[in-house]
Parts: sequence; structure tokens; C-alpha cells
Amino acid sequence: MRNGSLPVVLGGERLFRETIPLVRPLVPEFEGMEAQIRDVLATGQLTKGRYVAEFEARVADQIGVRHAIAVSSCTVGLMLAYRALDLEGEVLMPSFTFMATAHALKWCGGDPAFVDVDPEGWNIDPRSVEARITARTRAIVGVHVFGNPAPVAALERIAGEHRLRLVFDAAHGFGALHEGRPLGRYGDVEVFSTSPTKLLATGEGGVVTTDDEEIAERVRTGREYGNLGAYDCRQPGLNGRMPELSALLGIHALGWVERHAQRRNRLADLYRQRLSRLPGLSFQKVSPGDRCSYKDLSLTVAPDEFGLTRDDLAAALKAEGIDTRNYYDPPVHRLEAYRSPGWSQQLPRTEALASSMTSLPLYYAMQEEKVEGICHAIERLQAHAEAVHNALEREAGLLRAERQAVRS
Ligand SMILES: *Cc1c(COP(=O)(O)O)cnc(C)c1O
Repeated sequence: MRNGSLPVVLGGERLFRETIPLVRPLVPEFEGMEAQIRDVLATGQLTKGRYVAEFEARVADQIGVRHAIAVSSCTVGLMLAYRALDLEGEVLMPSFTFMATAHALKWCGGDPAFVDVDPEGWNIDPRSVEARITARTRAIVGVHVFGNPAPVAALERIAGEHRLRLVFDAAHGFGALHEGRPLGRYGDVEVFSTSPTKLLATGEGGVVTTDDEEIAERVRTGREYGNLGAYDCRQPGLNGRMPELSALLGIHALGWVERHAQRRNRLADLYRQRLSRLPGLSFQKVSPGDRCSYKDLSLTVAPDEFGLTRDDLAAALKAEGIDTRNYYDPPVHRLEAYRSPGWSQQLPRTEALASSMTSLPLYYAMQEEKVEGICHAIERLQAHAEAVHNALEREAGLLRAERQAVRS
């Protein structure tokens, strides 16, 4: 890291020679797994074996829930969970989430009805949920966005009062704590993801958790084609199984979730403390007593105060060798598959969040000095905000002119 005084877009030197990635999965070392990998290969038991069973038992134990069912992905886990609850009709969910929350419902014949978010915690807003309930409403889906626990108690109360099912998309949930306890025990059922951008990575995969015997049974049969065991089935199922080698990765990674989450929280605090001093930057509000997993470290940019838009900031950081991603922009209601006139008026807070938010690099092995460097880069950009904005505009103008010249 070098300490040039000008941002790269104004002719200064890059702070980082190599690009800092947004994420880097934390994977166990081969040495610790060698004997078990040999065992899987030697026995040929590649699926439906002891390691999936062991992973499930350990997840259930760590969370403190009766059933944990390993699946091939969180998307498939959500499909199986929605099916297990017979979710047809209207299901309330945030639009400020990853598209799979809604896709899985569509595959089950359900109808997502998008609800606005709380502008501070960035999770589904219980008051907007209550206002949106109709005679067709069957369920509520909460998402623990970026690993910040959703307002569990309020949603449980509303679901109870209106006799609605309650599901949590806990894709970002490993490493998060609600009132000091792990997620995975709330609502009727929760579904975790173990894909590589999440805290616990198994290659591909997910885990469905519930205390409900019947839901667990339906998810278990559902991931097994619906087969009841005697080559008959009550409902059409899927192949939703997690392979043994993935479960093995999961078993080893599970022991690290706590340390991983603590490390992410330490780095997130560094970012937050330093960048909160700048005008116009805000972070996700985590309730006292809760812990965010910081699956992503995101911030919002208020251009009037900061001097640059979110897009300016992302472009200028790219020039410094710093990777960013605009989760979740566009939000789900603006994706072609869900687009319909009217959503935008109903979701003003979602629109405002999505258009002002970006995520900064955060991963287990990231050194503090990298976080300091990124903060320095952002401070430097803000100090030269007007010149940076003008330089980016000129660049964009040149690019447009060049494209036009190529076309004509
Ligand atoms: C990643 C993610 C999913 C999908 O997880 P897969 O395991 O990739 O299917 C679903 N919901 C949210 C909020 C996610 O971030």
C-alpha cells in the first residue's frame, strides 16, 4: 500500500497493486480432512452417508433446533420448505433481497407480494407487513439481510394473530445471533445457504432447520424425490440432497463459524468507526443484543452530503483496485420476471436503499491494514469529491462518444 495524496481517477497512484476482492471463502485445510476424504473415496459412499448425517446433527446441536436437513442449495431448501407449508396464494416478502427468495416461491406456484423495508435495519418492516395483509395472504417470509436478524418477535406476533405461516430466508444466517442465540429456531422454518459467498461454505448447499416434526418430514421426503421409502410418493419431490464431500466441508467449517463471525464483526467495526466520520455515509443498524454475521458489509451513500453518488464511489474505488458490489440493485420487484407497474410506488424505501447502497470487501483473512487502506481511499475521494465527479463524467462522456463513433 502506498500513500499517494490524489485518487487514481485524478492521476494519483493506486493504493493497492492487486485488486482486493469483495469476498474470499474460508475453506478448511486439506490436512485436517485427508483421512475422511480418503474414506469417502474408498467406500464409494458419495451421497446419503454418514457425513451428511453428522453435519446435520452438528448443525442442529449448534443452533439448538430439533431438525436440520442438509440440502443441495438454499434455493432448493426454500422450494422444499414452501412446499412443505403448501404455500400457494399470496406470500409477503421483502423485495430488498436476493432473487432466490422469490424464485423458490414462484416454482411452488406461490405469488410474492413485496413489502417495504425498515430504512435503518434494512429488513422487512413489520408495520408494512401488517398493512399489506389481505384475505389471500398465506405467509410471511423474513430475510435476515446481510446477516442482520430480522424483527423476529414482531413477525411472530403478526403471523400468530393472522394465522399466517412464517418462513425465514436465513441464507446469511450462519454467524448471526439474535438476543445472544443463533438463528435457525424462529418462525415455522428457516433456510440457510452454504454457497461460497456465505460464512459457512460447502461448495453448494443449504440447511433447512425447524422444530416442527411434520415440516421436517415433508422436507426430508421432498429432497428425496418425494419417495416415502416404498417407491411411492404423496407429493412430487426433488433431488435436493447434499453430497458427502460437501457435508464434510461443512463439518470442518462449522467449528470456525464463531471465530469467523467475530473476525468479520471486528473488521466491520473498523470500517464503521472510521467511515461514520464522513458526511453522508450510513451503515445497517443492528439491534442491541443481536450480532450481524456481516455476510456483506454494506453502506449507503447520500450524494448531497458525501459529494459523490454511489455509482461514482464504486467507479472510483474500482480504479483504486477495490472491488465493490451493489447488493441489491435492482431489487427483486424491478427484475424482469417480477416487474409490474405499481410496485415502485409501494416500495419507496426499498428503491431509495437499493439505489444508494454498495458493499465493500470483507473476508476472514483480510488484514486490518487493508480495511484502513480502503477507508483511506474513500476519505481521499470524499476530500476531492467535486474533481472526482467531474473526472468520472468526462470519462463517461468520452466513452459514449467512442461507442457512437464505432456504431456510425
Ligand atoms: C445466496 C442466497 C440465496 C440462495 O442460496 P443458494 O444456496 O445459492 O441457493 C437465497 N437467499 C438469499 C438472501 C441469498 O443471499
